[in-house]
Amino acid sequence: MTVIDEALDGVHAGVWLTRARMKKLRTPKNLPGPELGIPALSFQAWYEARHGVEAYAAIDRIPRVAWAEYLIWYRHFLGIPVRYQTKLVRIEPDADFFRLHLEVNGVAQVETTRKIIFANGVADTGGPNIPPVLASLPRTLYAHTADTIDFNNLRDKTVAVLGATASAFDAAGVALESGAKAVHLFARRTAIASLPVNRLRGYPGAYYNYPQLPDADRWFQAWRFHQVGSTPPPDAIERVIAFSNFHLHLSAPWKSAHNQGDRIVAQVNDDVFEFDFAIAGTGYFVDPTKRPELAEFAHHIALMTCS
Ligand SMILES: Cc1cc2nc3c(=O)[nH]c(=O)nc-3n(C[C@H](O)[C@H](O)[C@H](O)COP(=O)(O)OP(=O)(O)OC[C@H]3O[C@@H](n4cnc5c(N)ncnc54)[C@H](O)[C@@H]3O)c2cc1C
Repeated sequence: MTVIDEALDGVHAGVWLTRARMKKLRTPKNLPGPELGIPALSFQAWYEARHGVEAYAAIDRIPRVAWAEYLIWYRHFLGIPVRYQTKLVRIEPDADFFRLHLEVNGVAQVETTRKIIFANGVADTGGPNIPPVLASLPRTLYAHTADTIDFNNLRDKTVAVLGATASAFDAAGVALESGAKAVHLFARRTAIASLPVNRLRGYPGAYYNYPQLPDADRWFQAWRFHQVGSTPPPDAIERVIAFSNFHLHLSAPWKSAHNQGDRIVAQVNDDVFEFDFAIAGTGYFVDPTKRPELAEFAHHIALMTCS
């Protein structure tokens, strides 16, 4: 067996030390993780061994950076070798095996396998969803929350954040903490419903048993989550409203945007705003036909249409 990841190294793999900018995980601390039912391998055991039983009892949710450290420990402790800078670019089926076209440190290489397990994450069944209104702007004037963003460059700048996802609020929070002059968050919604995470999908039993549910039930759950939308947890909202230079605009989809020199001029409802930079906190699209490594068999993947 071999595990590959296109990321530079363990620090850059996955979301936790890259595009995740919240202080604490959004999910409750008692959900099952990668411990495979072995309590001694759990985050709780790892955290208690380092910080004590009381310290674990005192946290309401898992600090994001501690979670990343735990995953790195987990890989080392179990001796799971990951081949980083190894990207799967195409799967070529043959009689009873697959030919894997890889880029290893940028060099093309072919290997064979009988079975592939995809654990390619949220972004890699499609990609970041960039709203069309931003797409014609110079790329230097906007980023998606999935991008590496140098927030130090946003010091004293007026920043727009599009979207009301948790990631949008987190990006706004980091921009404010990095000294942005003002941050305006634009939501199409009429209200921000910040539901406690437990009410939505935070039951350990639901996680344990999800794979056993019939397809129709899992489909329904996915549809229900989609209808509710992605909501920022209360602490993500508290983080931004602590700043008097944070401005929330509801029912405020961007109608148009163009650049005037190195500034963005945006029309929102009947108002015109000017910004130095925009961040799309607009989530991800799912479309396996857009991923070269999935495209050849994308038509075999069932997708759900949500209206
Ligand atoms: C901002 C953000 C916050 C989140 N917060 C939470 C949270 O609080 N709680 C929670 O449960 N979930 C959260 N999630 C969801 C979270 O991403 C998943 O729970 C978790 O990271 C999934 O782990 P994974 O190993 O499946 O995928 P990931 O951790 O995303 O790892 C996928 C890996 O696949 C690699 N890869 C992809 N395509 C290829 C390829 N073609 N070739 C080689 N390598 C490839 C990538 O480099 C990446 O390292 C969050 C997601 C985001 C984006």
